[in-house]
Amino acid sequence: MFKKLLIPKQIVTVNSKNDILTGHAVEIENGVIKKIAPVKDFENYDGEILRYPDYTLIPGFIQTHIHLCQTLFRGFADDLELLDWLQKRIFPFENSHTKNSLRASVKLGLNDLISGGTTTILDMGTLRNQEIIFEELTASGMRAFAGNCMMDQNELYPSFRESTEWNLKSTYEWAKAFHDSNNGKIKFGFAPRFVLSCSEKLLRDTKAMMKDFPDSVFHTHSSENKLEVETVRRMTGKENVEYFDSIGILDSHTVLAHCIHLNDTEVKTLKKKSARISHCPSSNMKLGSGVADIPKYLKDGISVSLGADGAPCNNGLSAFNEMRLAALIQKPVHGPTAMDSLTVFRLATIEGAKALHIEKAVGSIEIDKKADLVLLDLERADQPLQLDNSSVPTDENQIYSSIVYSASKENVKSVLLDGNFVVNEGNNLLYDEKKILADAKKEFTQLLKTINN
Ligand SMILES: [Zn+2]
Repeated sequence: MFKKLLIPKQIVTVNSKNDILTGHAVEIENGVIKKIAPVKDFENYDGEILRYPDYTLIPGFIQTHIHLCQTLFRGFADDLELLDWLQKRIFPFENSHTKNSLRASVKLGLNDLISGGTTTILDMGTLRNQEIIFEELTASGMRAFAGNCMMDQNELYPSFRESTEWNLKSTYEWAKAFHDSNNGKIKFGFAPRFVLSCSEKLLRDTKAMMKDFPDSVFHTHSSENKLEVETVRRMTGKENVEYFDSIGILDSHTVLAHCIHLNDTEVKTLKKKSARISHCPSSNMKLGSGVADIPKYLKDGISVSLGADGAPCNNGLSAFNEMRLAALIQKPVHGPTAMDSLTVFRLATIEGAKALHIEKAVGSIEIDKKADLVLLDLERADQPLQLDNSSVPTDENQIYSSIVYSASKENVKSVLLDGNFVVNEGNNLLYDEKKILADAKKEFTQLLKTINN
């Protein structure tokens, strides 16, 4: 039977009114939310009934900047500035990936993301063997935009690049093979790495290629680090966003990770072109990159969503960490009222969906949306008290504070992708964690041996 009824303590819908429903049930049929109504409306229900009197139901998190290929390197690239981090660690590591090590990395990353309640990602793949990433995305059931990380120039680490023609040809082939695959759950995210690793021809031709793949996105890094910005200025005579605009890259299907060092003209350009910003606060702090002026971007009406970036610059992949830091990182600069918990929770859910143009399918708990859902147990002695609103007046928005400031993946009890449990009462139904950990260790050991030889 493909029919079930979830009866949680409360439902954080993230709909346009931010309704929080108690005494309600969510009916799921064939992976889609069919009905949300008071429990009494489901008398004599003929499907499976699942009762969670202590749990809070939320939409799955959407992270719009991830590098699954880097999960293997977590903890092996610390305390470095961006360009050194790339040159000394990440480029040699990624360049040495075999199909097996890439697969081990992707599994480790997907396991971490899904068990932490993330159900949709925008992933920047790696230069070679991108089909492995698509195979593992498909096997996991994760909703994803993904694409190979394109690089046709690399002054920092010259062996980690391929020709312009190779990049364009292989990208087109991977897009043809995987765009709109796995019942439409996987879409292509064209991913030239950043200005410093891409020729103008590569960027322009990639953008042009997108017309053959409707609903795909263009995903790159921009304005992350001062030295990067200076180098881009030296190479192109322009700021990142100014350069992207001059070659026709920017529109509502463009997602730029970071956007920390922007001038006023660039901010205006992003707004005018409706380009999206993926904010990665953990990464920005750990790499000492700076603080993106997210309150200003939001005030200006620019689309902002959240991403953990790669595991080696975080060092986790948890949406909870990104939400907490997205709030905290702004407060010393803008004061304590900046980035309230409701605003931040929306960035991690519905705003991520809007960034990718999939807000009709996911990002909130509403009828006809996909049942990508997470059950949280917030009844913990070390976290905010969950009081009964009916017996004492409390701030309804307290739930967002509990989730954003205090919760972590430890609160995640169950995760559903398209209405199917992939984590159930803390049991991981997708991966054998001992096995993927052992495989990852073996593969990374081999990779390090290759680099050292
Ligand atoms: Zn990144």
